[in-house]
Amino acid sequence: MSEIRLIINYAEVSSGKIIELSKGDKRYLFNVLRCAEGENILILDGMGRSFSAKIVDKNHIEILEENEQLKEDKLNLILCQALLKGEKMDFIIQKATELGVLKIIPFISERCVIKKTNKIERWRRIAKEASEQSGRLTIPDIDSIKNFDELLASINNGILFWEKAKISLVDVFFELSLSEPIFLIVGPEGGFSSDEVSRALKKEIKIASLGNRILRADTAAIVSLSLVSFLCENYVIIKKNEYNIEGKSF
Ligand code: SAH
Repeated sequence: MSEIRLIINYAEVSSGKIIELSKGDKRYLFNVLRCAEGENILILDGMGRSFSAKIVDKNHIEILEENEQLKEDKLNLILCQALLKGEKMDFIIQKATELGVLKIIPFISERCVIKKTNKIERWRRIAKEASEQSGRLTIPDIDSIKNFDELLASINNGILFWEKAKISLVDVFFELSLSEPIFLIVGPEGGFSSDEVSRALKKEIKIASLGNRILRADTAAIVSLSLVSFLCENYVIIKKNEYNIEGKSF
């Protein structure tokens, strides 16, 4: 199968169709990946289907047939990330996409330095490129920005990460439902206020620590996603073996 992957708007893709490439896709195929005419590539529709295709010329590709056997392992994790300064959100969106996140919800909380942004379209582009790079069949959604209370009102089955929490992630993980999306909530550079933490608790969001050290928000986002996805993927094994680490049964 071709190593070259390109994601094209799902509405356009069907077998036998010739598709005109967008400017961005042309740049990606010919300048970045140095593809040649006649080369076979893999087209993903961003909604879970994949097709083999051929580069016809510098402007067109032809969709050949659908690959039925490719299916993405769906990870039901949604990252809720408070807005961060500079390029940190770009980094989080790229890495969270590689780690298989289903959706990212940016939000504004009390201590956010940034209170609005016009970067949503840029983040959607980053998610598309990271999906292509990592061979995902779907692109994670980047939601529009919510404030903290709107966020709390729209979620359940979540964990808010708080550096002052006494309870570890492992202890709250097994209280979550794995059959519905799990929301992971990470704060801004200045952290959450204790008032925000108690509002989340009232909504039955779990509060958990990621260890004794204070992580930068971008580190915390990646670590929380990695750890929770690992726990989800190994849930059955962990349960079966009844692991007991440092006196903690889980
Ligand atoms: N301003 C705070 C730290 C905020 S860290 C201080 O200096 O004390 C930014 C975000 O990362 C936090 O809101 C939290 O969601 C997450 N985070 C960082 N370290 C963490 C830890 N050890 N446990 C849980 N969450 C952590």
